[in-house]
Amino acid sequence: MIIVLKENPDQKQLNNLTDWLKGMGLDIHWSKGESTTIMGLVGDTTKVDMALIEALDIVERVARIQEPFKNANRKFHPLDTVIDIGGAKIGGGHFQVIAGPCSVESTEQICGVAVDVKAAGAGLLRGGAFKPRTSPYAFQGLRAKGIEMLEAAKEASGLPIVTEVMDINHLPLFENVDVIQVGARNMQNFELLKELGTMDKPILLKRGLANTLEEFLMSAEYIMAGGNEKVILCERGIRTFERATRNTLDLSAVPYLKKQTHLPVIVDPSHATGIAALVRPMALAATAAGADGLMIEVHNDPAHALSDGAQSLKPEEFSDLMGAVKAIRPYSHQYHKGQ
Ligand code: PEP
Ligand code: MN
Repeated sequence: MIIVLKENPDQKQLNNLTDWLKGMGLDIHWSKGESTTIMGLVGDTTKVDMALIEALDIVERVARIQEPFKNANRKFHPLDTVIDIGGAKIGGGHFQVIAGPCSVESTEQICGVAVDVKAAGAGLLRGGAFKPRTSPYAFQGLRAKGIEMLEAAKEASGLPIVTEVMDINHLPLFENVDVIQVGARNMQNFELLKELGTMDKPILLKRGLANTLEEFLMSAEYIMAGGNEKVILCERGIRTFERATRNTLDLSAVPYLKKQTHLPVIVDPSHATGIAALVRPMALAATAAGADGLMIEVHNDPAHALSDGAQSLKPEEFSDLMGAVKAIRPYSHQYHKGQ
């Protein structure tokens, strides 16, 4: 971080600032020009409040040289993180597809879809039990019963299960869940992130509807700062002025994030587009862009789905897509150190 001082700064205020920075364990590299003085802060500046310094009378401006996230930063951890989820590895060249319905609706439904997506090559099963719906009158999920049904589907198919948590108090229900999902609407639920940071379970963190990539990485940092390094990032589209699609899929997030972080990055083209016909092209594009995996909504009967039927693939469409994904995987962009 560098601090550019105003001309002729008040010496007392400058001493206060210097003492305060040194008190945080930082060294200061001074660079004094004819009219401008620049302070270069050396050390861990992740805890320094830029806005506070910028507000001081003697300061012209402050600039960060290094990103404010450390655990998630590739600079401090150059090799890709590989997360092993009950034998399904993701990251570092391992590609995984998470597939299943938006909501768990019944034991028959989730077990049937589980067997179908496994046969098509999916490595993990998804299904929402606690659903974050815009309307309080929309289907809210089967809650604890939904998780039990997912556990039955895990038993029936052998696939590890992924489901969303919306409330810290519900976490005891997630004991047998293999990957806990943090939905877009909770990306900045910091108390939840901190709690997940104390757990020894992979976390699938979805990008918030209107969050920058730096904010996304800072949310991953919350989980990692607590000691849980098993974080998978999921780009799922962001809110823009475009209304033709449910969200706007920010595919450039994939190579950007892969450069910034060692964590696996996956893409959810279902929530990103909201339209089943767009899922296949966007899934292929995400694969080509170097994603470490995909999350795809698959339903046995999309027309009668209790949520997100319009964006859900039928099992046979999913199977067809898996064939195409496998075919282009060898040509997809891979992040390499120094690239
Ligand atoms: C989901 O994956 O079920 C979901 C609700 O997605 P998002 O949080 O990305 O909207
Ligand atoms: Mn959904």
